[in-house]
Amino acid sequence: MAQELTTPPAQKGGPVQSNYLHPYACFRCRKSFKRGSREAAVLPCPECGGPSIGLTRKFKPPKQTDEKQWEKVEALVRRGFLFWSLGEPYPDTLREVADFAERHANFIAQERARQPEAYRQIDAALSLT
Ligand SMILES: [Zn+2]
Repeated sequence: MAQELTTPPAQKGGPVQSNYLHPYACFRCRKSFKRGSREAAVLPCPECGGPSIGLTRKFKPPKQTDEKQWEKVEALVRRGFLFWSLGEPYPDTLREVADFAERHANFIAQERARQPEAYRQIDAALSLT
């Protein structure tokens, strides 16, 4: 039996029971804040009221002043990456994002198929910013 090194956080059946804090990122403020559960894919940013995107706990927010890193994060989220573990590190620079996205295109397609409503909300939110 093949060993799977990375298993996406597939939650089968029923709501996700979690007391962990999850980061939500606002690309307008270049800030993230945490909420107790991922009941929504998108929440209003407490600072600007704009949309903030729910990411996994793997996400480590860049410094607010680090515009290049925030651009990279936004590019990843726009391509559907919400910071699951993917068996390779996430790209360090914006330039690497396109190749990274191509390598994981099948995974993203599966995630979009699994969570169409969440992605609809995320895509709509990103089209506003
Ligand atoms: Zn904001």
